[in-house]
Amino acid sequence: MQKIRGSEISMVFQDPMTSLNPTMKIGKQIMEGLRKHQGLGKKEVFTKTTELLELVGIPNAVERMADFPHQFSGGMRQRVVIAMALACNPNVLLADEPTTALDVTIQAQILDLMKDLQKKTGTAIILITHDLGLVASMAQRVAVMYAGEIVETGLVDEIFYESKHPYTRGLLLSMPKLHASRSTRLIPIPGTPPDLGRLSEGCPFAARCPYVMKVCHNHNPIRTQVSKTHTVSCWLEDERAPRVEWQG
Ligand code: SF4
Repeated sequence: MQKIRGSEISMVFQDPMTSLNPTMKIGKQIMEGLRKHQGLGKKEVFTKTTELLELVGIPNAVERMADFPHQFSGGMRQRVVIAMALACNPNVLLADEPTTALDVTIQAQILDLMKDLQKKTGTAIILITHDLGLVASMAQRVAVMYAGEIVETGLVDEIFYESKHPYTRGLLLSMPKLHASRSTRLIPIPGTPPDLGRLSEGCPFAARCPYVMKVCHNHNPIRTQVSKTHTVSCWLEDERAPRVEWQG
């Protein structure tokens, strides 16, 4: 994972149309950020905007700067949003389901673009997604979240091949397998996610967990170090569980 040098973070949202102002030309939208945050002169701003559009693969960048968002396809709009996000050289790019609103071929193009930009610019990317295929192809480190909390972290191989948390295992089991026979049924995680406004004591996954113990209902698990790079919050992996249970 790229080392985070500072705290500047840019954001790329799910739907590019809602990130762009439909009444403003693309070029002006990118230039606005450059002028406000980089303090560049008019000519430098124009040059940097052209470079950014070229960097994200928009052909005829100078002419396209005069177009409005509705004149771009969904994939091209997301490229513009990524260009805007990169405009101020962020240390971290937070991409929230950046390809969900796009069709499959365009998704692949945007992901290739993000990988390429990560190499070229050195910007670290935090990808928020439900798509485990995407995680496997993009991520180096993974944090699995349940009910608003991180329940397991590790290198991508540790999460996919040595997962410890029952929720992570449930997610992996519920994924369709490419070579499975047509009669193979998916194994869903039973139950529904908890209401975040009414979380009670104990592990938030307890109501759905096949390994639930008494301690799980009364005490939220504490993070346990599985390896130097792998942590899990589950009483199954915590040797203090019997003592905590006994103390009530
Ligand atoms: S702490 Fe208990 S309920 Fe929560 S995931 Fe682990 S075993 Fe399941």
